[in-house]
Amino acid sequence: MASRYAFSIDLDRCIGCQACVVACRTGNEVASGDAYITVSEEIRRKDNGFWGSFAHKRCFHCTEAPCVEVCPTGTLTKVNGLTAVDMAKCSACGYCTQACPFHIPHVVDNHVSKCVGCLDQVQAGEEPWCARTCPSNAIRFGEREVILAEAKAKVAKLRERYPNAQVYGETQLGGLGLLMVLLEAPGVYGLPEAPQSSATIQTWKTLVKPASAGLTALAAGVMGLAFVFARRQHAKEHAEVHTAAPVEAAVVETPAQTEENHD
Ligand code: SF4
Ligand code: SF4
Ligand code: SF4
Repeated sequence: MASRYAFSIDLDRCIGCQACVVACRTGNEVASGDAYITVSEEIRRKDNGFWGSFAHKRCFHCTEAPCVEVCPTGTLTKVNGLTAVDMAKCSACGYCTQACPFHIPHVVDNHVSKCVGCLDQVQAGEEPWCARTCPSNAIRFGEREVILAEAKAKVAKLRERYPNAQVYGETQLGGLGLLMVLLEAPGVYGLPEAPQSSATIQTWKTLVKPASAGLTALAAGVMGLAFVFARRQHAKEHAEVHTAAPVEAAVVETPAQTEENHD
């Protein structure tokens, strides 16, 4: 086992084929109608023109993961750099959905749903389903230092054609466990330069959660209050992100979805 795993997604290599989406859903037996990851085609504004790319929406496996910090039941934990999920512990409170700066976790059928890093596969010595399935080698997985060095080497080559190419995730939130090889600045892809959880969540984490062992009733009240404020902050941040929202976004259907739609 590596000490700290990471993924990388190279947006110069991704062809939007959806094989990773299907492999993830099948390999992890994700419930019908749910998905741990999505890949969509997006066109965004850039300078005076437009920029098209494939957008991957999936857990970034943050090192300092706000979802882990707010989870009151220990459902979400860090294991070798990945953000693991113990579904049996989830109370469906939804705090993680508010805390995540990337709006990733969602609650389905009374439990949290997000990429689990295929931890069972990794612990068995296999690669995650998405990484082993990608036909263009756009998804890489392994020891974070190796994956990061590989991503940086790719960016150095890309800069001959794309001067703004960069690795996203080297330092954000303690270093992300999903690094993105971008051809342009993060904002062009709708990614925050400095993702962070809301101030209210930070306050809850540093002040309320430690005190909650002896002040359960008080903590529950403050948690409720924090949750209300967090929802407002979340809505505000969401609105800000959508200021740079795609001018046009077409979600490419997976073969499975296509079949469902034709049934
Ligand atoms: S991206 Fe969101 S769900 Fe994933 S580890 Fe970070 S905070 Fe948690
Ligand atoms: S690591 Fe596993 S759970 Fe996460 S996106 Fe890849 S296949 Fe899905
Ligand atoms: S399988 Fe690879 S090429 Fe296909 S959508 Fe996923 S990352 Fe992109």
